[in-house]
Amino acid sequence: MKEIVLSGIRSTGNLHIGNYFGALRNFIKMQDENDCFFFIADLHSLTTHPDPLNFHENVKTVLSEYLASGLDPEKSVIFVQSTVPEVSELYTLMNMWSYVGELERTSSFKEKVRKHPNNVNAGLLTYPVLMATDILIHRANRVPVGKDQEQHLEMARVFARRFNSLYNVDFFPEPSAYNFGTELVKVPGLDGSGKMGKSEGNGIYLADDEKTIRKKVMKAVTDSGTVDAGATMSEPVQNLFTILQLVSSNEVVQFYMEKYRAGEIRYGDMKKQLADDICKVTLPIRERILEIKDNEKYLNETVKYGAEKARKSASKTLAEVKKIMGFKWN
Ligand code: AMP
Repeated sequence: MKEIVLSGIRSTGNLHIGNYFGALRNFIKMQDENDCFFFIADLHSLTTHPDPLNFHENVKTVLSEYLASGLDPEKSVIFVQSTVPEVSELYTLMNMWSYVGELERTSSFKEKVRKHPNNVNAGLLTYPVLMATDILIHRANRVPVGKDQEQHLEMARVFARRFNSLYNVDFFPEPSAYNFGTELVKVPGLDGSGKMGKSEGNGIYLADDEKTIRKKVMKAVTDSGTVDAGATMSEPVQNLFTILQLVSSNEVVQFYMEKYRAGEIRYGDMKKQLADDICKVTLPIRERILEIKDNEKYLNETVKYGAEKARKSASKTLAEVKKIMGFKWN
């Protein structure tokens, strides 16, 4: 049976190959097997008070990059959160069966309070309520989440159960995590250790041009290249191989692995190959990003089309929720 899968997408920052191989590639596959909703969470981003001058442009960039990578508005419902006003209405209702104590206890809230003590706004506190609203409004069964989001998904389950029991109905399904199985990869950075990330400043971006990619790869940290029998591979070199495995053919990986084991590897050659193969994946996407970002008409139509489809599903849920709660005027 097809499942309803929903995933939120942050509304700022360019996508790097960690996002592509860690998440997007799976989203693209999911579209063929499920009824998918992908939305750009622009309301969520308001907790940090984004500059109105960049606000729209940021959403446009993220949307263009997702579309260019292969999210398909014909296969999935791709929408911008704020274009579906039903979300805000259900969020208001959901706040009535969310308790301040449980919201204050979420680890993401506690972390935000620690990091930004001067901006502890109510939107931050009710962030998990809005997240749960995003999920429940489409009555989604599955949500692809990373480890850091598991607590939010658990809260969505709590809110769903609470509504069902408060009104003695079996209305909201309890959403569970979408499991990618063994396909979940962690893409490392090229700076020796840790994962590739926006805040780590070590990303190779889908929108990077060829020269930038080559420069970044050639600067990647390696080691002295001497291999002692039985010694484990150093982390920076393991990281290079991890990315090589994602972008290159098995033969290429095999070739460099044998060279490494024989103590004959020349990291300069391996990096050149790695840069070539990263470019093969990202440059066609970059071309589409530039095309799509330039095509205001296409972007407007896509957002309008997505909003229509999302509103159809959202308004149905909202009407039923209001009926259950006893609203009768409409
Ligand atoms: P973020 O860029 O942190 O907002 O992450 C967006 C999505 O990309 C999440 O599903 C992450 O799990 C995924 N992601 C981010 N960085 C990596 C990485 N280095 N390797 C694998 N997946 C990643």
